[in-house]
Amino acid sequence: MIDLAGKKVTVVGLGRFGGGIGVTQWLCGQGAEVTVSDRAMAGDLTASIAQLEGLDVALHLGEHDLNDFLQADLLVVSPAIPQDIPPLQAAEKAGVPRSSEMNLFIERCPAPIVGITGSVGKSTTTAMVGEILAADHTVHVGGNIGKSLLGDLEAIKPDHIVVLELSSFQLDQVESLGVSPKISLVTNLTPNHLDRHGTMDAYARAKQNIFRFQDDSSVLILNSADEATTGWGDLAPGRVEFFDPHAKPFKLQVTGRHNQYNAQAAWAIAREFGVDRQTAADALWEFQSLSHRLQLAAEGRGVKYYNDSKCTTPGGLIVALEAFAPRTAVVIAGGSDKNVSFDEMGAAIAKLAKAIVVIGATADKIAASVELSRTDSTPEIQKADSLQTAVKIASSLAISGDVVLLSPACASYDMFTNYQQRGDLFVRLAEECIAEGTQ
Ligand code: ADP
Repeated sequence: MIDLAGKKVTVVGLGRFGGGIGVTQWLCGQGAEVTVSDRAMAGDLTASIAQLEGLDVALHLGEHDLNDFLQADLLVVSPAIPQDIPPLQAAEKAGVPRSSEMNLFIERCPAPIVGITGSVGKSTTTAMVGEILAADHTVHVGGNIGKSLLGDLEAIKPDHIVVLELSSFQLDQVESLGVSPKISLVTNLTPNHLDRHGTMDAYARAKQNIFRFQDDSSVLILNSADEATTGWGDLAPGRVEFFDPHAKPFKLQVTGRHNQYNAQAAWAIAREFGVDRQTAADALWEFQSLSHRLQLAAEGRGVKYYNDSKCTTPGGLIVALEAFAPRTAVVIAGGSDKNVSFDEMGAAIAKLAKAIVVIGATADKIAASVELSRTDSTPEIQKADSLQTAVKIASSLAISGDVVLLSPACASYDMFTNYQQRGDLFVRLAEECIAEGTQ
């Protein structure tokens, strides 16, 4: 483990959503000489830069300077950056060590780590696990769920538990560290992020890093109903357990059967720590929806508006739709393209939705997938050039008892900074529609 005091460290990718802030702050605290390199212009990074105020950091923005890569003692690369951009390749050739926020944390973490990955349900399962375990343990929850735990390292003790949500991009980077969490869980696997990983095999391979480096005292928990991953048990070095998403249900306040699956996954992890079912059930009953995940956002004249902006996969839209009575949901979907198929989703929309308003770069693809499966003019398909127009159209199509559901099934980057901005705008527009009585 490299002692960072006095070392030249380049953080590659500050990010508009603050992904690089935690690690930059922590590196400064370690006495490193930190440079932040980001191709975005300062004007696009204002919010992130503001959070670095007061720190002695060199900001090299607008383009990557090769010198920052070649002359560094260590590169700390954001998971959002494609790992093969030319300056990283040049640095690799020159033998410059490379790490990531997550790798720095994992190698220093004194507590056992629970790692959770999968195509969907990661954040919810992670948050549920955190809440169940908090009844009897000191728990630290972080990772891809949005919190860097590097700043908490001093407070983390060996008898605590760390629960990490790990994305495929983070797990891609974990490979170079060669360490997997003590207890790992994979929620499910469906095509996702193929724009970045290229193939389903490469995506699965990244996910498998969550158990690839486990030992025989480790545990891998898989979803017994997910055909894409049940066979992974044969590859695991440690004990393999399964959670059954259809096992005796927990009483939940959060909507949708997918949340039942997530609860079963969380319970399977909690069991590994000796938690009894009643304790888990109590915590799960208290569990409230995370923001932007099928969250009831507004209600007026009998129409409920659900913000599911975090739904960035076709599978996510299907489960959201199934949470409501058939033909009661007016769906708003579409966004930037991750090169995944919408066929199955189109069939589900054709079968279950009342109407769909498509937006963004994938609008025509989604409309075509619904068109392909519907047998008559239901669901109605409309196209909007903005979220604002989409919410107006959706509101006008919904009557009392219906829901307007923003469940985009796509990333947001074609129209928004991130899914939070998209979800926040949806909530505002929904409230405006209700106030104006335009629904
Ligand atoms: P992730 O962190 O993997 O993106 P989240 O827990 O944030 O997953 O949920 C994001 C969206 O994915 C939800 O709004 C819902 O639409 C869908 N989703 C969540 N859990 C599941 C699940 N177990 N199976 C299918 N879809 C799910």
